[in-house]
Amino acid sequence: MMLTLKGLILRERNIGEINKSVSVITAERGVIDIFIRGGQKSVKNSASTQLFSYSQLCVDEKRKASGHTEYYLNSSELICSFHNIRLDIKKTALASYFCELILFSRTEQAGYADVLRLVLNSMHFLDNGKMESDLLKCVFEFRLPCEIGIRPDLVGCACCFKYEDDKMHFDFRENKIFCDECYVSDDDTDDMVLDKTLLYTVRFIALSEFEKLFYFRLSERYLKKLTAFTESFIAYNFKNSFKTLDYYKSIR
Ligand SMILES: [Zn+2]
Repeated sequence: MMLTLKGLILRERNIGEINKSVSVITAERGVIDIFIRGGQKSVKNSASTQLFSYSQLCVDEKRKASGHTEYYLNSSELICSFHNIRLDIKKTALASYFCELILFSRTEQAGYADVLRLVLNSMHFLDNGKMESDLLKCVFEFRLPCEIGIRPDLVGCACCFKYEDDKMHFDFRENKIFCDECYVSDDDTDDMVLDKTLLYTVRFIALSEFEKLFYFRLSERYLKKLTAFTESFIAYNFKNSFKTLDYYKSIR
């Protein structure tokens, strides 16, 4: 069956001497691999199937007897190359981290439209430089898990439902917040204290509409705190270390 999909290229891999395959996030099929016959030599599809390109992809979808589905590229057309990201080593590093996070949490399923929208928006703001890279990283690190079903309960204290407090505790093991009175812990290793500003910011990233998500700023001091929060959130929920994150941190 022939299909036309729009997707962002997350990874390129050479297969043998002349062929290649790409991992792509699409709204319709989630994250899929597309085989490109002669892809290493072909000039025709090279710009539209390289890393970070957002393209229209016309593919042949073949359902195997095993239940597995394979995709073969027929033709492609570049929609956006995110040119400025490619020119900047720090932006390239961050975009690679976005791609690695999506690949790690990959699922082939419908309803991936919001994840695609999140990453396209993030790439767009990284490309035009209208949001600072370190803040953009926090937004993506926290909103991606929210979009794939790991949105923590941020309405109020999980115990007494208090909406806000000078000190709220985010419990990383339970993905819940507790007010200072209700929070009980043997040690301080699995929680982080959120003051009102930080709690507001965390709620904003988790819940605001895409139209507003990239339009805010933070002081240097709060950016550091937010970074500690979102990196811990990724570490607790994904339980994996990401080479692209280590690289991003090594070059700033
Ligand atoms: Zn409470």
